[in-house]
Amino acid sequence: SDGKGIFKVYSPEMGNKMRRYHYLLEELRLAIACKDFYLSFQPIVHVEDCMIDYFEALTRWNHPVEGMISPAEFIPIAEESNLILELGDWIMLESCRQMAAWHNAGMRKVKISVNISGIQLKHRDIYDWITKILKSTGLPATSLMLEVTESTFIQASSRIIDELSKLREDGVTIAIDDFGTGFSSLSTLADLPIDVIKIDRSFITQANKSKKYNDILNTISELGQRLGLKIVAEGVEEIAQFELVKKLGVSSVQGYLVSRPESSINVGNKVLRNNNA
Ligand code: C2E
Ligand code: CA
Ligand code: CA
Ligand code: CA
Repeated sequence: SDGKGIFKVYSPEMGNKMRRYHYLLEELRLAIACKDFYLSFQPIVHVEDCMIDYFEALTRWNHPVEGMISPAEFIPIAEESNLILELGDWIMLESCRQMAAWHNAGMRKVKISVNISGIQLKHRDIYDWITKILKSTGLPATSLMLEVTESTFIQASSRIIDELSKLREDGVTIAIDDFGTGFSSLSTLADLPIDVIKIDRSFITQANKSKKYNDILNTISELGQRLGLKIVAEGVEEIAQFELVKKLGVSSVQGYLVSRPESSINVGNKVLRNNNA
């Protein structure tokens, strides 16, 4: 039906994938209406003293039948269907509300980092939207970081860049997420309204195993430092990786070595009890 000379191979596996996709899409609609999500929080710590700099808010979906469904599976479906707009509203509000509550409980130095999808940047007046949420939750702009992936930045219009710049002027921190996977030219880094580079986990996994990856890591962190950007290494699982990125001049790390993402209850108990504020 696609026309003369076009062949498509159909396999049962494709059918299964499609069924799963449509099933999850319908379930997502329900879950959003029922607010079946919660946030988990993973610390990003300074390399020198391991004190917490940020918590990254990571969305969790505990489905009544399927159990935990990975955001790597449901976020892309939410994006393709624009459901990420409604879900993303809840994520931003809940992230800022939780961080403001922790602030009020004495966790003053820790900030919150929230993932923003390209769909949200495209369809929301991002400046007004974020400003309103900060106002209603009482969270200071300087306590919020937004994570925008490198591939989203590559496609961003000048309107989007302007809105992010305005937020930055108000004190919001902007991070380029999954850096190294989006093939942006390194020279564009100088023109983007960013403060932080989050180096993708794949580079950390490969470093120490291959000299090539080691050299790439070294180059990214040198360039970042020259541009006055803070560098975060994602997915640090081993001491050797921690030592390596520290030597290369990375400012903060995130990964299972320090902590897995945890529920707000665990975070509140641990951090506030240890006075790690
Ligand atoms: P991401 O933004 O790159 O988030 C980091 C992911 O790496 C998280 O997976 C985190 O649990 C995982 N991670 C952290 N440290 C380690 C480590 O040491 N080893 C390994 N193997 N993994 C580590 P998670 O929570 O499953 O999220 C996957 C992706 O889903 C995120 O990647 C992000 O792209 C997306 N996502 C999650 N929550 C949200 C959200 O609220 N909004 C949007 N737009 N996307 C989200
Ligand atoms: Ca992220
Ligand atoms: Ca990332
Ligand atoms: Ca990633």
